Amino acid sequence: GSVPKAPYLELNDGHRLPQLGLGTWLGNSSQGRIKLQGHEVQQAVEWAIAAGYRHIDTARVYGTEPQVGAAIREAVRRGDVKREDLFVTTKLWNDRHARAAVVPALRESLAALDLDYVDLYLVHWPIGQFPNGSYDLTDHISTWRGMEEARRLGLARSIGLSNFNQSQIEGILAGCEVKPAVLQVEMNLNLQQESLRAYCASRGIVVTAYTPFGSLLKGGAGAGAGAGAGATRVDDPVLVEMAGRYNKTVPQIVLRYLMELGVAAIPKTITKQRVEQNIDIFDFHLTAADRAALRGLDAGLRTIAGGRWADSPQYPFERSDG
Ligand code: NDP
Repeated sequence: GSVPKAPYLELNDGHRLPQLGLGTWLGNSSQGRIKLQGHEVQQAVEWAIAAGYRHIDTARVYGTEPQVGAAIREAVRRGDVKREDLFVTTKLWNDRHARAAVVPALRESLAALDLDYVDLYLVHWPIGQFPNGSYDLTDHISTWRGMEEARRLGLARSIGLSNFNQSQIEGILAGCEVKPAVLQVEMNLNLQQESLRAYCASRGIVVTAYTPFGSLLKGGAGAGAGAGAGATRVDDPVLVEMAGRYNKTVPQIVLRYLMELGVAAIPKTITKQRVEQNIDIFDFHLTAADRAALRGLDAGLRTIAGGRWADSPQYPFERSDG
């Protein structure tokens, strides 16, 4: 078996979330969505479990659920890990916001994953859409009723939200029976989400940082076409000097900073050496001065703006972002 590397964050429903997980969205390139080539995601998930990851993030829309499931089957078969030691997240896509569509959508994800349950099911975006692309303005509370039913049926141990803004979360809290356990949002050096983090902390909601590298890296799938001038980059002299002092890489410094802010993070990589590097961040601490320097780099720059939905009345972000 392999040894778990990341600490756990306690959720408001009694479950616990491994603080570092593996993302599995292959991202967008300038040519559009990147196509799955072969078994790259399955391989990355197998490397990750062997390296001590216990938390895997996927979504119906990524197309990676079958590879995530195959990797879990293989790791369990080899005796590296037991299913109950893993934390698997998937997400409800925008075209299934109708209350009665939620449980069937999750059953489709479970079939693709070949699992009996997921640990966390998230409403992927606060934006409902019909298959033809027009907006489905189902209110968020009725979608949430479907999420609560999924939890009641044991198909999802925990339920939560992604890309909801503060007032949209307030709407859920005002009408829910089961509180969201997690909010997954973009968070990185260039978008540190201070007020949303404080709000979630005050409501007992754990935050997971997606796109944890934001626009730090040039050229990668998550490089952030939307974030241009003003973004701190991986070759920034302050970051390079800081990483050198800890004998770590700049991406490791960024992930460590997120850990010290008390959020979970789900960096994506399909490169073995990076899979291992990204979880090798639990053997050091940043000094208060370095944390303050990193905090000072917050530029409010969003990488994933969902700009194609900017005309939806449910669009969650400041419209100037996209
Ligand atoms: P990330 O910030 O995780 O960046 C991924 C990119 O960084 C890839 O190009 C990867 O390259 C590269 N990379 C990873 N580690 C390193 C390293 N140590 N050194 C150098 N380069 C590195 O972006 P994502 O947008 O993928 O976000 C992470 C995950 O968050 C997604 O995969 C998905 O699971 C989730 N997500 C959720 C969203 C939501 O709406 N809820 C939206 C967006 C993401 P390579 O793979 O080639 O090694």
